[in-house]
Amino acid sequence: MPIADRMTRRVADFAVIKNMFEEGRQLKQKFGADNVYDFSLGNPDVPPPDAFRKALRELTQSDTLSFGYAPVAGHLPVREALAQRLTGEHGVPVRPDLIVMTVGAAGALNDIFRALVNPGDEILTPAPYFLGYDNYAFLVDADLITVATDQHFHLDLAAIAKAITWKTRVVLINSPNNPTGAVYSAEEINGLGQVLETASTRFKKRIYLVSDEPYRRITFGAAVPPVLAAYSHTIVVNSFSKELSLAGERLGYFAVHPGAEDAEAIVAAASVVNSMHVVNAPSLFQQAVARVIGAAVDVSIYRRRCDLICEIMTAAGYEFNRPEGAFYLFPKSPIPDDARFTEILRGERILVSPGRAFGAPGYFRISYAVPDRTIAGSREGFQRAIDQVRSSIKRPAAAR
Ligand code: PLP
Repeated sequence: MPIADRMTRRVADFAVIKNMFEEGRQLKQKFGADNVYDFSLGNPDVPPPDAFRKALRELTQSDTLSFGYAPVAGHLPVREALAQRLTGEHGVPVRPDLIVMTVGAAGALNDIFRALVNPGDEILTPAPYFLGYDNYAFLVDADLITVATDQHFHLDLAAIAKAITWKTRVVLINSPNNPTGAVYSAEEINGLGQVLETASTRFKKRIYLVSDEPYRRITFGAAVPPVLAAYSHTIVVNSFSKELSLAGERLGYFAVHPGAEDAEAIVAAASVVNSMHVVNAPSLFQQAVARVIGAAVDVSIYRRRCDLICEIMTAAGYEFNRPEGAFYLFPKSPIPDDARFTEILRGERILVSPGRAFGAPGYFRISYAVPDRTIAGSREGFQRAIDQVRSSIKRPAAAR
């Protein structure tokens, strides 16, 4: 037995994803990268803002730049700048000492879950959901419990209230959402705060709301409401992976509501986890980002791409909810078997992810963080794929 038993299935799951990438690579090798329409990854290609590049250049040219270990919670100037930004965004006086810099939003979620969650506890999340959540729950031996959203992928508060049990420790939301592009309204978020307050009283234990917001700055007109203002036991998670297009540089953070009963204890525990795993978040990038807090990528590029892919999918006859933010479209698969339909699309050299990977069989995800020409080039393939399944549905079995 070369590896731990509990890892065997996880490694097999990752092999499926690795195979998908490998098949994509082979397709590109065979047909040329320009003739393969790869919508499978949420890896931003929009360039970081000029202000960020300038800040990084200045820093790297400075003689006083240090490369030593940083404080576990992160450099103070970046936390101070973030506290100011979050205070403005949420209307709650966020404190720098309740912010911890982490290795991406993924690092923040892992730190928080290790700090808050006991083995066997439940983490509740609306589905469809980001597939990393399964892994983060696995790492703390928690059960990820999913609650269906409504037909527009918005919160079903009654269903959430019903799904909360005495084992629920955390309710985890993500808006703007990966994979659906939904942005939850102020009414939904305030309603969720009330549900959690009532449930915490009923079960005589504190249920935390973790709001995972890496796409907060990428919206197409919808306002992202202040989550900290809706519930005082909220922890906000964010990163610079998407808003500054720095996904590979692995910088994120979390901020605990100053009114949370155990805010200091949670920050202390999550900092210890951070230090156990990574010591500190990338130091150079903390210093660079501190100089440009508030800057963001050019969101009009994502909006333009969103318009283009929506137009293509509408013309072909796909059903979908128009995204309000992030950079994903989550159409209904024209046949119930979403894995089969992604194979049909692969036959057209179009790579997408099956909805079942996000807890939503019967759908598929298109990431439009790709050049406009990739989107434009996929038009005929999307049309042929839906035509193919429609004609096979219409044709009687004997005639096939
Ligand atoms: N949460 C969501 C909803 C995401 O989509 C992602 C990445 O795609 C993450 C967390 C992880 O982000 P990071 O790259 O900042 O770790």
